Amino acid sequence: MARLILEDVCKSFHGEPVVKGLNLTIEAGEFVALLGPSGCGKSTILRMLAGFEPVTDGTISHGEHCLSSAKQHVATEDRNFGMVFQSYALWPHMSVKDNVGYPLKIQKIHSDERNKRIQEALEIVQLEDYADRLPAQLSGGQRQRVALARSLVTEPDVVLFDEPLANLDRHLRAKMEDTFRAFHKRTGATIVYVTHDQSEAMSLADRIAVLNKGELVQWGTPQALYATPKNTWLANFIGRGS
Ligand code: ADP
Ligand code: MG
Repeated sequence: MARLILEDVCKSFHGEPVVKGLNLTIEAGEFVALLGPSGCGKSTILRMLAGFEPVTDGTISHGEHCLSSAKQHVATEDRNFGMVFQSYALWPHMSVKDNVGYPLKIQKIHSDERNKRIQEALEIVQLEDYADRLPAQLSGGQRQRVALARSLVTEPDVVLFDEPLANLDRHLRAKMEDTFRAFHKRTGATIVYVTHDQSEAMSLADRIAVLNKGELVQWGTPQALYATPKNTWLANFIGRGS
C-alpha cells in the first residue's frame, strides 16, 4: 500500500486549461472525495489517475512509482486500480457471478481461486444470493452493487469512483452510502470518490478536496471544511452561506 501523490498536475484540452497545478497527497487507505460543481475538472482528474488521459504537465505517483508525467505514462491495465463510473456497464447476457469474475478471467486466474474471490466480493456488497441472476433481473441499486463487486474482485490498492450514485434515487443513495462504507472497511483500499453532492462527500470521506474551475479551493476533513470554509464561494457551496 502506498500513497497517491499529485504534484503540480495540469491538464489542457486544445490549449484550454481545465486542471491547473493540482497538488494533493492521498494517504494509503484513505477515503477521499473530489467535490465541486459540474465542469470543474473532477472527471478529468479521475481519468488521469486511471491512466485514460495523460497529464499535460506535473506528476502523478503511487508511492515510489511515477504513473504519469509529460515523459512517462503507465497504462491503465498496469495500474491495478478498480473503477466504477456513473454509467456502469454490465454484460447483459452474463450472470452476476460471471460479470463479477470477468476481470479475473482476463487475468487468467484459476477457477477455484476465481470462485472464492467472487464469493467474497458478493458478500461485501450483500449479493451472495443473486450470483446466478442476470442483470435484467436486478434493481438499479443491485446492479450498481454488482459493478462495485466487480471493481474490488482484483483486490486493487486504489479504487476510483466517478459519481457512482448519480443515477439512483435518494432513498437508494442513502443505502448505497452504507455499502461504500462497508466496502472501504473490508478492503482497506484507497478510495478517490468524485461527486458534486456536498452531503455525500461530507458523510463518506475522511478528507475532501474541493475544486472550482480546475483549481483546489480547500483540502481538509469534512469538519474543518464545515467549521472554517476558506472563502464565501466555498461556504455557499457546502451550504453554510447566508
Ligand atoms: P466535471 O467532472 O467536474 O464535471 P470534467 O472533468 O468532465 O468536469 O470537465 C472539465 C472541463 O474539461 C469541462 O469544461 C469539459 O468540457 C472539458 N473536457 C473534459 N474532457 C474533455 C475532452 N476530452 N476534450 C475537450 N474538453 C474536455
Ligand atoms: Mg464528471
